[in-house]
Amino acid sequence: MTAQRLTVVIAAHNEALALPLLHPRLRAVLDGLDDIEGRVLYIDDGSGDATWSVMQALAAADPDVGVLRLSRNFGKEAALTAGLDFVDDGAVIILDADGQDPPELIPEFVALWQQGYDNVYGTRLARDGESWLKRSAAAAFYRVIGRLSKTPIPADTGDFRLLSPRALQALGQLRERHRFMKGLFGWVGFRRKALPYHRHARMVGDSKFGLWKLWNFALEGITGFSTAPLRVTTYLGLFTASVAFVFAVWVVAKAAMYGDRVAGWPTMMAAILFLGGVQLIALGLIGEYLGRLYEESKQRPLYLVDTWQPPIVADSAVH
Ligand code: UDP
Ligand code: MG
Repeated sequence: MTAQRLTVVIAAHNEALALPLLHPRLRAVLDGLDDIEGRVLYIDDGSGDATWSVMQALAAADPDVGVLRLSRNFGKEAALTAGLDFVDDGAVIILDADGQDPPELIPEFVALWQQGYDNVYGTRLARDGESWLKRSAAAAFYRVIGRLSKTPIPADTGDFRLLSPRALQALGQLRERHRFMKGLFGWVGFRRKALPYHRHARMVGDSKFGLWKLWNFALEGITGFSTAPLRVTTYLGLFTASVAFVFAVWVVAKAAMYGDRVAGWPTMMAAILFLGGVQLIALGLIGEYLGRLYEESKQRPLYLVDTWQPPIVADSAVH
């Protein structure tokens, strides 16, 4: 049997300190895998620090390492997409550069792949070093999106996962600009399997995802995988219209029976303000979807490549 190829894809933005700590761990794990030709692909997502030179040093010292540099910071989702696009053979594992996803777990992912699973995803049992607020926000988000989206999006699951060659190939066909990867992985389907793990704290540096970024990320997920908010506004509109109708009948009947003495300014103000608010919310919601439609219609590439340096051992398969 020829060895199966496995590429570990790692997107990094300002991770110059983390990469030298991560790589030896990764190397040790890959060396321990039988019958697997291990590769590593680092993507420099427009870092402002020494990340790129660190990557190049790693590639110079290790023939299994390929490095890809994007023209600027495109964000983790685009960086991962770039990395996955540049893998043209075998399975992939997606890993964070900061050591939060332990590379030591890779053999377990591979074992499940060899049992025939296409999409083996790490599910976080515990999340070290993350605030209470971040953890509860994440829990709430997974509950909401789980209900709204028809695509299965497993809770407490990040990007740490293995994709079989056919799952990778399928994912490559999804070219939408607004990329909510957790959802895209689920959309692809095939045989899925959860692998529970303990998520560690970052080795060095700070998270690049603050609460505001996470909120936007959540909006991305919800609007990308569900049109339920649009439907909800329809019901909200129907509900307020019915209430308004009943109220109007009552006002007219009262005026007919007792005459109209032009009172009720507070009621009128309350109704106007309330309806105005509801309308603005509905407009904003439509705007969210419209904005995404606009982004898609521009058909821009998802990322631009500055430099691509394949692993030195790379054989015939050249990109
Ligand atoms: N990352 C990236 N581009 C970005 C932001 C982050 O490639 O614009 C990478 C980052 O280097 C890390 C991974 O995405 O490898 C996860 O980022 P981070 O640890 O900041 O997120 P968290 O673990 O807090 O969700
Ligand atoms: Mg992290």
